[in-house]
Amino acid sequence: MAQKRDYYDVLGVPRTATQDEIKQAYRNLAKQLHPDKNPDDPQAEERFKEASEAYNVLFDADKRRQYDRFGHATAGGPGFERVDFRSVGDMLEGLVGEVFGQGATRRARQGQDLEVELAVSFEEAALGAEKTLTVERLRDCGTCSGSGAAPGTRVERCSACAGTGEVRFQRGFFSASRPCSSCGGTGKKVESPCPTCKGRTAVPAQEEVLVRIPPGVEHGALRSMRGGGERGRNNGPPGDLHVRIVVKEHPLFSREGADVKVTVPISFPEAVLGTQVDVPTLEGKVKMKIPSGTQSGKMFRLRGKGIEVLGGAGKGDELVTVLVEVPQEITAKQRKLIEELAAEFGEEVHPQQKSFFEKLRGLFE
Ligand SMILES: [Zn+2]
Ligand SMILES: [Zn+2]
Repeated sequence: MAQKRDYYDVLGVPRTATQDEIKQAYRNLAKQLHPDKNPDDPQAEERFKEASEAYNVLFDADKRRQYDRFGHATAGGPGFERVDFRSVGDMLEGLVGEVFGQGATRRARQGQDLEVELAVSFEEAALGAEKTLTVERLRDCGTCSGSGAAPGTRVERCSACAGTGEVRFQRGFFSASRPCSSCGGTGKKVESPCPTCKGRTAVPAQEEVLVRIPPGVEHGALRSMRGGGERGRNNGPPGDLHVRIVVKEHPLFSREGADVKVTVPISFPEAVLGTQVDVPTLEGKVKMKIPSGTQSGKMFRLRGKGIEVLGGAGKGDELVTVLVEVPQEITAKQRKLIEELAAEFGEEVHPQQKSFFEKLRGLFE
């Protein structure tokens, strides 16, 4: 192992430096060598650890006295344990927290993600829209400014976790930590809880969020908004908001990919004689010609009347299926006329039926 550098040299302070000077020197180094600012420089991380270790010893009066007398040789001696960092992150929360006056070494935690549903109409999903959504999130309580303490009362360090918000425990050979149950991970104990939030530090707040629905969005799609979730703890970042799009059913339209499907009923005489019908599309009604002799189930395609393909790669079509409606209740006169019509129709007017019967006969003889 390489020779350890002198702690005073590491911090760049004279041996006569005051506590304040040591703190200031470490603060400057910590800012400069912070791993977040030097993500690809392992040397910065090493130097940061070195500086933190030096600070940990020199800022503590007892440890500093021993170091001044015995130097690095005292490592392992009484009252002079080596700084054992679990990770750079832990170290930052610990030592930097102390230096920067945050007091306890509370671990920053990201807020929880929220998932909510947003119902949109068929047209909104197809054409795109902007919708306002009301989301209930926890926000810092205004009465106590998020401290959890009744105004004018004191907030103290939690004694169960010494203000760290975490308790360490042994699991086999490993030591692990979990949030302190006594203070709920805040590291603080209040003398008298805030009457508004009951000491919980937060209150639910209804807030409006603008959600942009892109044209062509599908049922079940998830729109995510970074930082739209619950607040972080101990200066941690907020969670994200995930909005699940629920497309409501339409009375006439259904969807298949980028195509819109619609069924248009016509009468038997219209199917025989031909007609013109009003067909609903996303852009309003259009007139469509039904030629004479149209069979039930025949599909017509209205090009470009469908849904925009996500990403702007053109539009789908509208698929119009014609359904020939058979009358279910008829008058005596209508029955008589239809019977006359049936007599009038020979086999020749029903070629499909004729062909079917021929095939059927062939099948069983
Ligand atoms: Zn409060
Ligand atoms: Zn605690």
